[in-house]
Amino acid sequence: MTAPTHLARPRVEVPGSVDEAVRRLAELGPDGAALAGGTWLMRSPTPPGTFVSLHRIAELRGVAAGTWGALTTHAELAAAPLPPALRALGTAARTSAFPQVRNVATLGGNLNARGFAEADLVPALLALDAGVEVATAAGRHRIGVDGYLRSAHGDTTDPAAVLVSVTASAPAGRRSGYARLTVRGGGEYALVSVAISADLDEAGVASAVRVAVGSVEARARRCPEAEAALAGTTLDEAAARAAGLAAAAVLTPRDDLLAPGWYRLEVLPAVFARAAADCLTDPATDHDTGEAP
Ligand SMILES: Cc1cc2nc3c(=O)[nH]c(=O)nc-3n(C[C@H](O)[C@H](O)[C@H](O)COP(=O)(O)OP(=O)(O)OC[C@H]3O[C@@H](n4cnc5c(N)ncnc54)[C@H](O)[C@@H]3O)c2cc1C
Repeated sequence: MTAPTHLARPRVEVPGSVDEAVRRLAELGPDGAALAGGTWLMRSPTPPGTFVSLHRIAELRGVAAGTWGALTTHAELAAAPLPPALRALGTAARTSAFPQVRNVATLGGNLNARGFAEADLVPALLALDAGVEVATAAGRHRIGVDGYLRSAHGDTTDPAAVLVSVTASAPAGRRSGYARLTVRGGGEYALVSVAISADLDEAGVASAVRVAVGSVEARARRCPEAEAALAGTTLDEAAARAAGLAAAAVLTPRDDLLAPGWYRLEVLPAVFARAAADCLTDPATDHDTGEAP
């Protein structure tokens, strides 16, 4: 008798290189999936027949200045000495989930968790204008995170694509910050998350502002209206709250068990103010880890 699919024991393969992983994923098609930390994939109601574990692929683990291998964990990002320009990514990683999850959950997994509006690293990477390197059967290419998310989560998904690394630049004078709101505290999914990046001149006036909002709509996205509201300001609280109102006027919020859509819009100005404050935090005097428990 054939076991029902949901009780069948899945196979796990452990390739030693990106090319081998891509080849196996291409051969397996929809019956295979890349396995990183497994914190998202293992909860899937429709697990693949074969997990292609990425863990032995050394190339996916490297961390260089502004470049992180796809297997970099949330905990590693949280502990990394990031420059002020990349602070949003560190704050997002540090405040996401809780230690047990952060220790195994990866950057690559966060960017590829389909249907996951609350993914914390995604808005941070959108605001940082990050790029990714992707390996497919046709070769390797680089693409912006925005474009990657649209293809990896859209109809054009290539099940054999492996995200290799993520890169973000950190020019002098740039600041970034992140804030999230949960119902009860750390360890929960964000109801709303906001990432801000801006170039500040000597007077602290912001230009090249990039804002991304997560968890409000089905997928995190840039918010040009909020960016316009913050440009030319000093990212002070009043300006940040005004940007939050500008975002609330254009976002189409989702309802779920954690919060109704109207509530997500209502709290946006306050979360914008926290994200702007995170941007302006002086790294020299910042001793607050702000970690979720
Ligand atoms: C209790 C709990 C709480 C959580 N709380 C949070 C939270 O607060 N914030 C948050 O952001 N997340 C949270 N998560 C979700 C999860 O931990 C993250 O989304 C995590 O970043 C996923 O990474 P992973 O390595 O575990 O991915 P996996 O589960 O291994 O994979 C996720 C998806 O990405 C694909 N994938 C993985 N790596 C690659 C790659 N290199 N290339 C191509 N595809 C790839 C997999 O095939 C799969 O489809 C939570 C999870 C749990 C279990």
